[in-house]
Amino acid sequence: MRAPAETILILGGTSEAAEIATALVARGARRVISSLAGRTRRPAPLPGETRIGGFGGVAGFVAYIRSEHVDTLVDATHPFAAAISANASKASHLAGVRLLALDRPAWQKRHDDAWSIVASLEEAAAVIPPGATVLLALGSQHLDAFNGRKDADFLVRMVDPPDGPLNLARYRIILGRPSPDAAREADLLRDNAVTHIVCRNSGGVGAYAKIEAARRLRLPVIMVDRPAAPTGGQRFDTVDALLTAL
Ligand code: NAP
Repeated sequence: MRAPAETILILGGTSEAAEIATALVARGARRVISSLAGRTRRPAPLPGETRIGGFGGVAGFVAYIRSEHVDTLVDATHPFAAAISANASKASHLAGVRLLALDRPAWQKRHDDAWSIVASLEEAAAVIPPGATVLLALGSQHLDAFNGRKDADFLVRMVDPPDGPLNLARYRIILGRPSPDAAREADLLRDNAVTHIVCRNSGGVGAYAKIEAARRLRLPVIMVDRPAAPTGGQRFDTVDALLTAL
């Protein structure tokens, strides 16, 4: 595979973005910059350069692209990170650089899955039955929608400990990342007497084990559907397809 002789900016914060950075550096790309929003306190180190923090909207993004002489922009952000993907589409157009984007396929409901599909976190909060014990498999910035539910117990999984109490009436915290092993996820659900899971349809393999565990335990999953798919640039379903086009 050829080594791209250019400056490639990868919008990251996902395992796929890390895979892309690793592959490009291994391929001998001239300059690879991974951009993170800065939501995780100690992000895992990435090959190539890393920059952290917002660009300051579309204008700031265009200015960054120009000042760093970026030739190619790769949007490998999370499917629910809609604002940065929209900005990437506009900024690449305004700055006249190539945009390649990864559209991670959504999970598909199987006949033996008990999913309620909802359009928003607010709708997810509304359909939780009273007395439920709910695993909120969501980022810590998405919990406020559930603070009106004082009649349910929440189990909140977080990568970093919170700075203070959470804005929820009844909750427990489990620190750590989701396990990729469905048996371990099933143990966690069983040990904590979880009756429902709330999650977003992120797709990908990393977070799927809880869905498989719920299926095994016949637990209902309240699945928040994706925002409208972003548009613009060349779009790919897999990391391999995107890397081939670079
Ligand atoms: P978002 O709502 O789409 O973005 C909000 C703002 O954060 C953007 O306008 C931008 O600020 C800044 N930003 C977001 N991603 C950035 C990046 N990769 N590099 C530089 N600035 C970035 O995004 P989000 O949902 O908060 O997600 C933030 C990051 O976490 C993304 O990189 C995403 O891949 C990752 N992530 C998100 C989720 C999720 O559930 N949303 C899950 C896993 C990982 P400015 O306008 O100032 O440029």
